[in-house]
Amino acid sequence: MSSAAVVNFAPEKGSVEIREIERPEIGEDDVLLQVANVGVCGSDLHQWTADHSWPVNYPVVLGHEFSGNIVAMGSRVTGWKEGDRVVSETAAVINQDSPMTRRGLYNLDPARKGFGYGVDGAMTKFVRVPARCLHLLPDQLSFEEACLTEPCCVAYSAVVEHSRLKPGDRVIVLGPGTIGILCAAMAKLCGAEVAIVGLESDRHRLEIAKQYGCIPIVGDAASWARQRDGLGADTIIDAAGASATLKIALDLVRPAGHIAKVGWGPQPLGFSLDPLVQKSVTLQGSFSHNWPIWERVIALLTSGQLDVKPIIGGVWPVTEWQEAFEKMHQGEVVKSILKPV
Ligand SMILES: [Zn+2]
Repeated sequence: MSSAAVVNFAPEKGSVEIREIERPEIGEDDVLLQVANVGVCGSDLHQWTADHSWPVNYPVVLGHEFSGNIVAMGSRVTGWKEGDRVVSETAAVINQDSPMTRRGLYNLDPARKGFGYGVDGAMTKFVRVPARCLHLLPDQLSFEEACLTEPCCVAYSAVVEHSRLKPGDRVIVLGPGTIGILCAAMAKLCGAEVAIVGLESDRHRLEIAKQYGCIPIVGDAASWARQRDGLGADTIIDAAGASATLKIALDLVRPAGHIAKVGWGPQPLGFSLDPLVQKSVTLQGSFSHNWPIWERVIALLTSGQLDVKPIIGGVWPVTEWQEAFEKMHQGEVVKSILKPV
């Protein structure tokens, strides 16, 4: 029995198509997951447009933001049963003995390979998942919302684990994509006053960000950053997909402030980092997430403290992936969700 899958088959731009693939075999520590929903990530778009900066194991099924039911289990899997509603983390392959894994930071294990680029992802009907990646979903959390647990974990990691926000802080988020908007929502949950900055072409996405109680700014955020005492914002979250925005972050941050960089950008920097030194600013990278972050985010989604519904722009069958990708690419929707056929 074969199923339609969204396959990224080569490093050239546009090398994504629907292919029929067989149901994957599972190992003794894996489960077979029947995918309910899968979110389209900016990184899926980057692999499609071939401006990504990470190695891809072609051909590969795209998709790493997914929810579904367990339909089969390997012989060594315990603590799960067929029919369980779950979400999956993204670290499909890790070295269990690496020093990073042993301290719980398997997201930073150099051997880590994720779904959708390193191993086959979830833009299809069935996906093979190591049982250690699973988290149980409460019944009241829908599959459509739950498939966005992953980008929420990226935001939690950047804002809660890799910043040091206090209530009343002034925070500026650069870039109103999914991660930027969710970072803004997280910063609001931490009690900060939050502005989110985009370009003229981001107006629609900035309107959506407004629903999370943050202030949308098109273009220059300097006056908002310096409104209180002229010194700048306490924290800048750089969630834009370009290196150049770090210059803006360095300009907007106050002395002894904090910059968390979560957006990727393959371009080399063409400016001096002297302001970082002069202002004694902390620059912190943030990549991925681990088990405790997933549990915490599922709790936030379940209690309704974090609501992902405003960013969901629609649900398309996987066979209509192109429309779902285009709409996100053009900024018409913040997040597209796919459904297997
Ligand atoms: Zn993602």
